[in-house]
Amino acid sequence: MSNETIRITLGDWQWNAAMIGFINIVGKDNVSFVGTDAIEFSSKVLDDFENKYFSYLINTYEKTLSWYKIVGYKNKLSAYESNFESFDLKDLKDLNKYIKDVKRYIKSNSYKSSYELINVDIDMLSLERQLVNIKEPKIHQFEADRIRVITEVEQALTVLWQVINYCENPGGKRYIRAKNVIYTLIKNAWNGVSFLNAQTKEKDMYIDYKKYFVEEVFDYLKADKTKCKYTCFVCDAPIKDMKNDLSFLNVTGFDVARKSSHVWNFQNDIAICPVCKLIYSCLPAGMMYIYDRGLYVNANIQLRDAMEINYRIKNDILRSHEGGIRSVYKSLVSTFNQQENDAAKYELADVQIVRYENESYRFNILSRVMLEIIVECKEELNSLINTAYNENGINMQIYDEVIGRVFNNQNLFTLIHKLLYYKVSDPSKCYFNGEHVRNLLKINQQIYSHLGGMKVEKSWEQQNDIVRNAKGAGYYLRQRYIDKGSDNKLTGICYRLLNALKTSKSDMFMDVVLNCYLYVNMQVPKVITDVLGEDKSFNTMGYAFIAGMIDGQGPKENTRQKVDKGEGK
Ligand SMILES: [Zn+2]
Repeated sequence: MSNETIRITLGDWQWNAAMIGFINIVGKDNVSFVGTDAIEFSSKVLDDFENKYFSYLINTYEKTLSWYKIVGYKNKLSAYESNFESFDLKDLKDLNKYIKDVKRYIKSNSYKSSYELINVDIDMLSLERQLVNIKEPKIHQFEADRIRVITEVEQALTVLWQVINYCENPGGKRYIRAKNVIYTLIKNAWNGVSFLNAQTKEKDMYIDYKKYFVEEVFDYLKADKTKCKYTCFVCDAPIKDMKNDLSFLNVTGFDVARKSSHVWNFQNDIAICPVCKLIYSCLPAGMMYIYDRGLYVNANIQLRDAMEINYRIKNDILRSHEGGIRSVYKSLVSTFNQQENDAAKYELADVQIVRYENESYRFNILSRVMLEIIVECKEELNSLINTAYNENGINMQIYDEVIGRVFNNQNLFTLIHKLLYYKVSDPSKCYFNGEHVRNLLKINQQIYSHLGGMKVEKSWEQQNDIVRNAKGAGYYLRQRYIDKGSDNKLTGICYRLLNALKTSKSDMFMDVVLNCYLYVNMQVPKVITDVLGEDKSFNTMGYAFIAGMIDGQGPKENTRQKVDKGEGK
């Protein structure tokens, strides 16, 4: 086989994700990085590519595959067998759930279609029929029923071991896991061709992939291209016909067959070369998928950084038990913050977040400015990690709410208002304290001073002084009310102050404050009067003042230990 050097260069997000997918599949030691945005590789790395392709996806996602859910249970089965005396109702319930899952998997169409490829003389569908749920006795009857239960469990285990052994034999591993990744990962990125073409005649997905994607590249590299009339839409290489287009990519590409009858008399002028087609097929290895949802962080900086960021996020999410896209923000933030401590910093630049949800792509831009806010507010953000509030029975993580707002270009005043309102009305549902509110106000100031267009009324230090002094003033006012035995009035006062801030009525806020200080016979602190006429500083002062007044309110036993540590006076 010829040995040619192929070069590919970064482009739009989908191409970039596919390119990173390709590097993931062949291993970064098998490509050479050229400049900041390109790689070169020898056509030799395409030898055996179909196996490398499936191996990467299988190894990366192994623990999420249904195949793993079947074989991963075998330690439990061995434990039951070695000690039936301690087998109890909870074990039985667990086992029944497992049996139910196994039955569902092994009679599914994707499993059935893999059996014909696996050269083992075992009838999985007959094993499926032999597996039945074991009747669960009532808890007080369990001992009386034990002999019947254990006999049935033993029968079930005999069948289950056959199922597990089948899945674990080389053919089972090769084909069942390949089917798993086709339907849980690959199908999210492309469809309709090769093994995802419903009409394909080739049953073996490895061979099908090889024929459709890899062999075409080898033929193309060998071919005489001097008479080619067309060029590849992606890389400009000469191509002889318009056969390959982008329609196999989900959502993006154009379905040429359908478009040709389009009223605009659409001229199909988008075709790609076999090399680019192969690279695009690697998209599922570049994106990160979890539960039918996908994610790619398009950091258009340097190819190596883009790889690193996506690698860390993929690792983080696959390892974390939360496993949701929500934790992506957390991974992203920690990736940037981690890097900040390293010698080589990412050059902070705009980042495009691409999400695949409900079969379409959604885009968010994280601007350099937002990333700066996140890096600069690292300590304040970290203090929020274990904080939460309960809204309509659901615990909301304050950290997620803050990051979500920063990434959506919103300030935090409505969130701060809500938190203080909940703290006044039902402190037992609030897992945060005044110090956290103070950190929110600090982050909020960073948002204001970074997001352009807003004139900043005070310097960062002055703003911090306002937050500290106003919070202190609120705290002392509260003490005076307690000294006078009038602390029952504080809740009503807080409601009125919150309402005044919400409706931007500084005169109403001042009325309430003046009355309070008159009542305790004290002078109104300078921090309050100093910011009159400055909208944002006034709001900041107001919320910090209220945070000071409610601090320490609420039964301690309802506040989680970790949250309490931040309590500052
Ligand atoms: Zn091309």
